[in-house]
Amino acid sequence: MPQVLLRHKAEGSGSPLLYSFTHLYGRWPLVRALRVISVPVALTCGLFSLLVLIGYGAGLEVLYRPVAHGPATHPLTAIVVLMISSGVVINVLRLSPAIAKILALLSLLLIFLRLTEIATGTDMLSGWIPFQHVVNHDIVLGKSNNTGANTAITLMLLAFALLLSAMHTNVLAQLAASLAGILPMSAYTGYIYGIDAFHGAMSLVSATLALLLMLSILGLTAHRGVLRAVLSPYIGGRIARIQTSISYAVLLLVGYMIYRSLASSASVIGAFIVLVIWFTTVLICVSAVMQEKMDRKRRAAERALYMMATRDQLTGVYNRKTIMELAESELKRSQRSERPFYIVMLDVDHFKRINDQAGHVMGDTVLSYIGDLLGRCLRSSDKAGRYGGEEFIIMLTEVSDEGAARACLKLLNQVRSLDIPGWTDRKGPVTASIGYASSAGKQRLIDIIEAADAALYEAKGLGRDRVEAEASLPTVEQ
Ligand code: GH3
Ligand code: MG
Ligand code: MG
Repeated sequence: MPQVLLRHKAEGSGSPLLYSFTHLYGRWPLVRALRVISVPVALTCGLFSLLVLIGYGAGLEVLYRPVAHGPATHPLTAIVVLMISSGVVINVLRLSPAIAKILALLSLLLIFLRLTEIATGTDMLSGWIPFQHVVNHDIVLGKSNNTGANTAITLMLLAFALLLSAMHTNVLAQLAASLAGILPMSAYTGYIYGIDAFHGAMSLVSATLALLLMLSILGLTAHRGVLRAVLSPYIGGRIARIQTSISYAVLLLVGYMIYRSLASSASVIGAFIVLVIWFTTVLICVSAVMQEKMDRKRRAAERALYMMATRDQLTGVYNRKTIMELAESELKRSQRSERPFYIVMLDVDHFKRINDQAGHVMGDTVLSYIGDLLGRCLRSSDKAGRYGGEEFIIMLTEVSDEGAARACLKLLNQVRSLDIPGWTDRKGPVTASIGYASSAGKQRLIDIIEAADAALYEAKGLGRDRVEAEASLPTVEQ
């Protein structure tokens, strides 16, 4: 078992369900929270609809009509809510996706029939829905009791969302669930503003139930699609959450003030539009500032990572992998343009002595001085890397055979003139040997490197502190 799993098990995070949530969503607390509450919220909705049905069965009106003479929850509404919430629970616990789909389809069928009834004014369901006699009795007494169009449309969208999430079409499921929130939220806004036309026939109980069901269905897919992005602990999610909550709160408040003053002046609508546009612009600007602030840190981290991945930590020149990649692409370029480039191998002379006599720290210091020198003294088109140990590889471009020889001699002199406190003042100059080769007439990078290495070996053999070119190039005058 991987270490991470072992550690989680050892810490003991309770039930297997919670354990897997912790394991999968530990770093995404909001996603985790929404997924965790999905089942309890669905169970609450299911329990509520059961109580409503018990109320009908046992003749306890308070259970289906909590406020005397207020709106009742129709048995059809209760049955559909029961089916959808059971579908959510079945889906989360992965008991049987097929049953969840069947429950969603049945709910869709019932709601479709109810909407057809409303649209055509016919009666299709009364023979099928239980407790119809109670409903009929209520209507005779003049009490309202039906599944209104708004509730029906909302339930249809919720059933759709359940079906889509059972089919793993997460983004569409989230879209359907969020659309289902529109009518209950309008109803809530209507109740807050005191506008009857706004909440229509949707009771506060139905609106609350619908919003809870929406929440539990959204919980099914919180780890996927748009919702995952909105609940993300990172910048995108944070901006989305701040903007949504501020927008809803501010626009609700401003809308209320405008609704109240509408009677006295019609021009407030114009002011409202200007205000909404201004407010949206401010929100966009705030998010741009937040995004930029976070992104600056990310870019700096990315730059640091890039440097770490491509540079040698001690000397600051390219690491071996990177200089080889650069040389490979230079080889391709030079084969196309037929303009040769040069590979220079530089090896510090008797470097072991420095380590042995002054310690590894001094050895490292000498290497970093040489790295610094290579960074300073080469042309910007030339590239230097650490090939390994105290050996450097340099790539010279846009230069002739003589130019390459001059560059190598200059480098040799610069190494010799290095002033390294603690070493050159006590033991004399640091010297290096250099061998170089041209890419002309060679097909593979390794051929050029080997030729430069052979020249370096020759320089070592001829007494060190000198430059040697490969045999096919003119001899270097030292
Ligand atoms: P030559 O003149 O023939 O090149 O002799 P040399 O002593 O320079 O060559 P050799 O290759 O025998 O020794 C290289 C030494 O460099 C051996 C190794 O311990 C040391 N070395 C390699 N990498 C590092 C490093 O990163 N830091 C330090 N301090 N020493 C290193
Ligand atoms: Mg050496
Ligand atoms: Mg060496």
